[in-house]
Amino acid sequence: MQKLSCIACGKKFEIGENRVVCECGGLLDVIQPIEELKKLDLKKVFDERLGSCELPNASGVWRYRELLFDTKKIISRYEGNTRLYPSEKLSAELGVELFFKHEGENPTGSFKDRGMTTALTIGYAAGCQNFVCASTGNTSASLASYCSVGSLNGIVIIPNGKIALGKLSQALAFGAKVLQIDGNFDVAMELVNKLGEKFDPESPTDSVYVLNSVNPFRIEGQKTIIFEILQQLNWNAPDWIILPAGNLGNTSAFGKAISEAFKLGLIERKPRIAAVQAVGANPFFKYFDNGWEKFEAMKNPETIATAIKIGNPQSFLRARRAIEETNGVVLEVSENEIMDAKATIDAAGIGCEPASACSLAGIRQLAKNGVIQKNERVVGILTGHLLKDPDATINYHAGELAGIDSARANQPQQIEASVKAFLATIK
Ligand SMILES: [Zn+2]
Repeated sequence: MQKLSCIACGKKFEIGENRVVCECGGLLDVIQPIEELKKLDLKKVFDERLGSCELPNASGVWRYRELLFDTKKIISRYEGNTRLYPSEKLSAELGVELFFKHEGENPTGSFKDRGMTTALTIGYAAGCQNFVCASTGNTSASLASYCSVGSLNGIVIIPNGKIALGKLSQALAFGAKVLQIDGNFDVAMELVNKLGEKFDPESPTDSVYVLNSVNPFRIEGQKTIIFEILQQLNWNAPDWIILPAGNLGNTSAFGKAISEAFKLGLIERKPRIAAVQAVGANPFFKYFDNGWEKFEAMKNPETIATAIKIGNPQSFLRARRAIEETNGVVLEVSENEIMDAKATIDAAGIGCEPASACSLAGIRQLAKNGVIQKNERVVGILTGHLLKDPDATINYHAGELAGIDSARANQPQQIEASVKAFLATIK
């Protein structure tokens, strides 16, 4: 059986104790019973479930449930099952074997659905009805959708002032209660944490269950991105897995998943993780760059890649462990590199939101300076869908992003409504 263990003080809890954080305030890890799991032929079990049309096997998260936790009723939208696209053109250009894993193909358009199905399922099993997060972006969209599917109350807390309502459109449409508070994002987060502290396992129906990234069951769901990649590659580990890094939940989850897959013998070697930050939101890069000497949060992070615009990532210790255990690296990329990479991924017919493009921007840097070697197999993670941030795309192609060189801009052309004028454009 899985157990919960506090990262700070080491105290252990049963899964059924309905804890999100430790009594000491420390973050919790789900500890997998590796020796017990080794007795199962997991590759065979997982492979036999592929192609199933019914839940839980049809979910790209719950297919791997032995490596998550036991549960009875799941709240699922058949998430996961995202494609792994080989990219022949970029592979040839960079001299590597490149794939993109598109997590923007999840039900609400981002990887968040993987952690939402697991965390919401646990909260529901504990008897909770009210689920809350502070988010103006992908987390709120995911929470709202899954709460509606499970007939539960979804509540999103947002800061006062300048909020792009476009970012909230999914949460509003899916029917979540959206509460705007007097204060900035940190104040919203503080309120959510206070609600979490008041969580009473004895009377769950009156309590509020917190679904922000401190929740360890979200990490468990996000691990399945790695399991799915490994299965799609027939359990042959790639050399590298490159991902955008903001709040570091995915970096942490990937390290945990790789470590577990290796200990269980699902793979014979560990892929290296490269976590890619934007120059304007790079506290984790600096931490890596100074030899893990000192972690310093950033006050005013700024980047066009809004999904990773985070100055004080909660999971930096977990993420450091992931980098160390996989002989990984952390790097930073410029706004220009991000948007050029995005335009490249978009023009390849795949598409992604700006933050996702950090993967390709990072791969380009690492291939150029020889850290990624010729012919290595590389998987870049795309975390969100192209349509998550249409403004960034439109403004890029219109050449209207300050400081961004729109070198790959594709603009509409005005022509006369005649066959002759049309034919002239396709010559
Ligand atoms: Zn503790």
